[in-house]
Amino acid sequence: MIHLPSDFEKRMQQQLGNDFDSFVRSLDTPSPVSIRINPYKTDKIPDLTRVPWSTTGFYLPARPSFTLDPLFHAGVYYVQEPSSMFVEQVLKQHSERETGRRILDLCAAPGGKSTHILSLIGATDLLVSNEVIRQRSQILAENVSKWGQPNNIVTCNDPSAFGKLKSFFDIILIDAPCSGEGLFRRDAKAMDEWSVDNTRLCTQRQQRIIADVWDSLSDNGILIYSTCTYNPGENEDNLQWISQNYDVEFLSLEIPAEWGIHEIRKGECVGYSFMPHRTQGEGFFLSAIRKRGSELRANPFKDKRPVYSLADKKYRSEAASWLSQSDEYTLIQKEDTLYLFPEEMLPVLNTLNKILYPIKTGTSVSEVKAKNLLPTHELALSSFLNKAAFPTLEVDLETALHYLRRDEIKPHTSKNGLNLLTYEGYSFGWIKNLGNRSNNLYPKEWRIRMEIPNKNDREIK
Ligand code: SAM
Repeated sequence: MIHLPSDFEKRMQQQLGNDFDSFVRSLDTPSPVSIRINPYKTDKIPDLTRVPWSTTGFYLPARPSFTLDPLFHAGVYYVQEPSSMFVEQVLKQHSERETGRRILDLCAAPGGKSTHILSLIGATDLLVSNEVIRQRSQILAENVSKWGQPNNIVTCNDPSAFGKLKSFFDIILIDAPCSGEGLFRRDAKAMDEWSVDNTRLCTQRQQRIIADVWDSLSDNGILIYSTCTYNPGENEDNLQWISQNYDVEFLSLEIPAEWGIHEIRKGECVGYSFMPHRTQGEGFFLSAIRKRGSELRANPFKDKRPVYSLADKKYRSEAASWLSQSDEYTLIQKEDTLYLFPEEMLPVLNTLNKILYPIKTGTSVSEVKAKNLLPTHELALSSFLNKAAFPTLEVDLETALHYLRRDEIKPHTSKNGLNLLTYEGYSFGWIKNLGNRSNNLYPKEWRIRMEIPNKNDREIK
């Protein structure tokens, strides 16, 4: 049986009353496993039970080794805890403006909610995915690169940097660092690190983060605040702190009773709580809050010498031939790199670039080397890649896994030069075919470190 910290147990007994025993029993059942499929890469609907609050979320009957599935590395799906997929309901129920939204995911690594938001927004919207911890921001950039959408930039900034972008974002998601009580069942470390003092520190840090970015939310904009804890100090008490400090309106969500989500009301504050004895998912809390006011959203800064501009004409047509056609996205350039990016958002990108530290911009498509264009790895993962523009090599599972380890693979094709690798039709990387051998161009930092088990010992799906 799970051994809970005694102060936590006492508090939960008070919070849950008669429900406490079934809550504790649920912590001894396995965590559900779920994935979200990438609607831009596949229209195949898996024959699996749906996560009720997400159109692309599905429960798996058991946990496979995702590392050993090339489709995972190709960004065909993302492995995400089911309760977290509830963010979808806020966008569906409360974000009616369909185009031109600027969205900030402030605490975004490893990228669960960012890849989800990218599945829900349109080509004229822009998602800024930020992560303050540098190493985690690299993982975030890797995961959103695999998702393959150009209407995204990744930044690595402290929340305080966003205060300079007054009234800039239409939606800000703060998926706050928290005491992690909702993850105790699957993460022993979260339980080891738990203490009453630590929950208090989390509350203070969350308030600081909210205060840091508040000015960058435009009037009428929506703050989505979420945690994976049951601690009222980090949840409903923080909502109350928001209502005492800012002019806000809490947004209600329509939720069928059978979803098992618990609505928490405290004064005018409204939040939604997921508990493992009521929903098939981990502990999670979310609230959607509208900022009241009538000021207009800020325009991007006027910039006489923008860092990003439309791509040089001499490279445009070749790079464009590598992409499927799109009216909303265009090729832009910074120094020797060409990117696919939403055209309307170019001034926004230049403004953000002045204030923030972007580590990834849209989809990088190609680099100019000695006046020649070279495709980038991100292009291989883009949902706008025109596969017909390159010699393609469809590989079997064994070869795909060796490629992902950066082992040398035999090309088996007569076309020398750059070859695009596909697995079950999904592209996931390049090799340089040198005839009887090849160079593996998979990014070093992304390579899988696992030994590849013998065929008979391997279970993927
Ligand atoms: N939204 C992510 C997802 O869905 O995959 C999970 C985010 S996790 C709950 C919280 C994130 O906040 C972590 O990546 C952590 O590094 C980051 N973080 C930690 N301290 C922070 C701080 N002081 N300000 C902003 N973010 C912080």
